[in-house]
Amino acid sequence: MNICHFCGNMNFKQSKVQYTYKRNNKYIIVDAVPCEQCEFCGEQYFEANVLKNIEIEFDAIHSMGKSIKKKVVVPIEAYTDINHITNVST
Ligand SMILES: [Zn+2]
Repeated sequence: MNICHFCGNMNFKQSKVQYTYKRNNKYIIVDAVPCEQCEFCGEQYFEANVLKNIEIEFDAIHSMGKSIKKKVVVPIEAYTDINHITNVST
């Protein structure tokens, strides 16, 4: 990266982050994905082949039945059902 599209900063660091990929309401989470990260705002930039590898793995798991090593259960709520604080005074 030369310049951050979000903040205009020009300093980046090599980083490894957890990446969540979603398609058709199915997910894959990949740990330690290499990226360049903006040192100012933290925006993450991934190389095309890195994202492609994640898509290939997604297809292997969700389309071709590859067995998975680890999974997490993620709660999903609709906001209207979790509106616990309805009378916030300002
Ligand atoms: Zn930035």
